[in-house]
Amino acid sequence: MSVNDRNKNTILTHAGSKPNEYHGAVNVPPHRMSTIVFNTYEEFEKVPNVPFSYGRAGTPSSAAFEEGIALIEGAYKSVATCSGLSAILTTLIAFAEHGDHLLMPDNVYGPSRKTCEAILRKFGVDVEYYPPMIGAGIEKLFRKNTRLLFIEAPGSLTFEVPDIGAFVSAAKKAGIKTAIDNSWGTPLFMKPLDLGIDVSVMAATKYIAGHSDVMLGVVSTTEEAWPAVKRAALMLGLCGGSEELYLATRGLRTLHVRLPHHQKSALEIASWLQQQPQVKRLLHPAFDSCPGHENWKKYFTGSTATFSVILHETRRDKIAAMLNGMNIFRLGFSWGGFESLLFPEQPNPIRTAEKWSEDGFSLRIHVGLEDVTDLQQDLARGLQRLVE
Ligand SMILES: *Cc1c(COP(=O)(O)O)cnc(C)c1O
Repeated sequence: MSVNDRNKNTILTHAGSKPNEYHGAVNVPPHRMSTIVFNTYEEFEKVPNVPFSYGRAGTPSSAAFEEGIALIEGAYKSVATCSGLSAILTTLIAFAEHGDHLLMPDNVYGPSRKTCEAILRKFGVDVEYYPPMIGAGIEKLFRKNTRLLFIEAPGSLTFEVPDIGAFVSAAKKAGIKTAIDNSWGTPLFMKPLDLGIDVSVMAATKYIAGHSDVMLGVVSTTEEAWPAVKRAALMLGLCGGSEELYLATRGLRTLHVRLPHHQKSALEIASWLQQQPQVKRLLHPAFDSCPGHENWKKYFTGSTATFSVILHETRRDKIAAMLNGMNIFRLGFSWGGFESLLFPEQPNPIRTAEKWSEDGFSLRIHVGLEDVTDLQQDLARGLQRLVE
C-alpha cells in the first residue's frame, strides 16, 4: 500500500510527525531559524542540495506542514507561503510573464483580483475575467499567449461551482496550465490534481489551520509544474513563520473531525434559512438553488460551512439592525475557523465579465462549531430585526 492510498484520516493524524528526531515529541516543534550553520566546507558546498540551508528556503517546520499537505493533495510537492493571497500570487507569477494572457474567474476572491490589477497588470500580464459558468465555452477565450487558466470552486461570495472537468480538458487540449483555489473544499472534499489540474492553492488560514489565529498559504503541484512554483515562492521571498507552520500542522490533525461537523451544521442552518421569508435565495453548493450545484455533485465529495444567502431586505438600516444585535455570529471577514461569522456584501459592482443576476445584499455566512440550535436562534432573531 503506497502512502497515497492510505486513509486520509490516518495521513492527517500522522503526516510530518517525526518523534525519533525530537526526543519523542509527536509534533515537530516550531523551528525558529534564519541562520543554519554547517559543520564543514564540504557540507556547505552542497547547498542547495541539502535539506536546510537558510530559513527562508525551508525549515523542519515548513517541511512537516508541506509533507502533510502534499500527501492529502496527492501532489508531487507543496510549498508554504505566508498567506493564502501570497500563495495565489506565487502561482500566478510562476506561469504568467510579461505579454502573457491570464484567465481569472469573474467571481474570484476579491484580493486575488486586486493583486492581478495592482501587480500583474503593472508587469505587463494581460488579465481577463471570464464568466465562471462558461464551461467548455472557455476555449473561445483562449489566445495564442494564454498561459494560465485560474479556477476558483466555488467562487467567492456567490458560490457558483464551475465545470472543472470542462475547463481542464479544454486547457489540456490547448497546452494551457490550470490552477485552482481550493480553500473551500480542501482535499478532503475535492482533489484538484486527481481531476487533472496542475496546481492547487489553499489559504491554510481558513479550514486547514482552523482556529482563526494563523495566516498561511500553500501551493501543491504536479511534478511538472513544481520547479516553476518553487522558484517563484523562493524568488518572491515568501515563507511561512515557524509558529504559523506549527499551528497549521496541528490544525491538520483535526481537519477530518472538524470538517464533517462544519458540514452537518451548515447543511442544517442552510436548509432552515432557505425556508425563511426574509431569504430570497440560498447560495450553498450542496443545494440546487446554487448555480453549478450539478458540478458540485460531480467534483466534490462534501461541502464545508461557508455560503451566502441573498436577502429581500435592501435597506441599510435594517441590515445594520440585524447585524448589530447578533449574539453568537460575529461580524468579520474570513471563515474556516471554529467560530461562526457573517458579513454583508454586494457582489454586483465587483463583476466585470457579466452582471451577477441578483441585486441587493448577500450575507456571507460561516457556520462554526457551536450548537446548531443556538446558531439558528441567533439567526432567527436577526432575521426578525429585518422586518420589525
Ligand atoms: C481568505 C481567502 C484567500 C486568502 O487567504 P489569506 O490567508 O487571507 O491571504 C484566498 N482565497 C480564498 C477563497 C479566500 O477566502
